Amino acid sequence: MTDPGAATSRRAEIQRHLDAIEDRITSACQQTGRDRSEVELVVITKNFPREDVDHLIELGVRDVGENKAQEAHAKLVDEGPLPGDVRVHFVGQLQSNKAGLVAGFCHVVHSVDRPKIVRALAKGARSADRDLSAVIQVDLDGTNPGRGGALPGDVMPLADLVVDNGLGLAGVMAVAPRDGDADTAFARLADISRALREVHPQAVMVSAGMSGDLEQAIARGATHLRVGSAILGSRQSHR
Ligand SMILES: *Cc1c(COP(=O)(O)O)cnc(C)c1O
Repeated sequence: MTDPGAATSRRAEIQRHLDAIEDRITSACQQTGRDRSEVELVVITKNFPREDVDHLIELGVRDVGENKAQEAHAKLVDEGPLPGDVRVHFVGQLQSNKAGLVAGFCHVVHSVDRPKIVRALAKGARSADRDLSAVIQVDLDGTNPGRGGALPGDVMPLADLVVDNGLGLAGVMAVAPRDGDADTAFARLADISRALREVHPQAVMVSAGMSGDLEQAIARGATHLRVGSAILGSRQSHR
């Protein structure tokens, strides 16, 4: 996107979408008696180019998320450093051989779902001398093959392992089942979060809610929304 006119109109389009999402978040908070400050927006920039990340940052976004390690590294590191106050969230399924790469530039990993990943992230964070926060992804119905997540019964031992390995235990994450009821799913996630916080009070983060179900997530206590297509569009790629 070298044409300055195109860049200006793309930025205006993103601004409109951000405003619309902000309206949805504000009214969902009002309807459920929550304070707007309890909910943070992470903009998922997967499949969209670095130019869009730069537009978002210019528009005030400070939390961006990606789901593929190499694409994210190319876009957010190789194409030039991000401002120091921007946090990079990793939300995709992670292979342990990519964990070191992720630990070198991401701040929060939302998709921690098995011991091997915990150990690999911890090793990567140690060798990069970086603090890394881990969010445990929960497979709420056990029928999310290919989408990742620990079974609810495995969350507690995994959380202990996160702490023992020196990662920051931030909380829990889930994706609502494709054909299921988002409200029921997010209610289950809230129960799991409550149980986790009894043992690990610092693990307050509840990462839930995407473009299509952020209202249900806010109603069930989400603290971090992961919104992509409603802000950047549904095109596969701008590259
Ligand atoms: C892509 C993605 C999102 C964003 O989804 P949209 O429906 O585009 O808002 C959120 N979470 C995860 C894990 C994703 O992969």
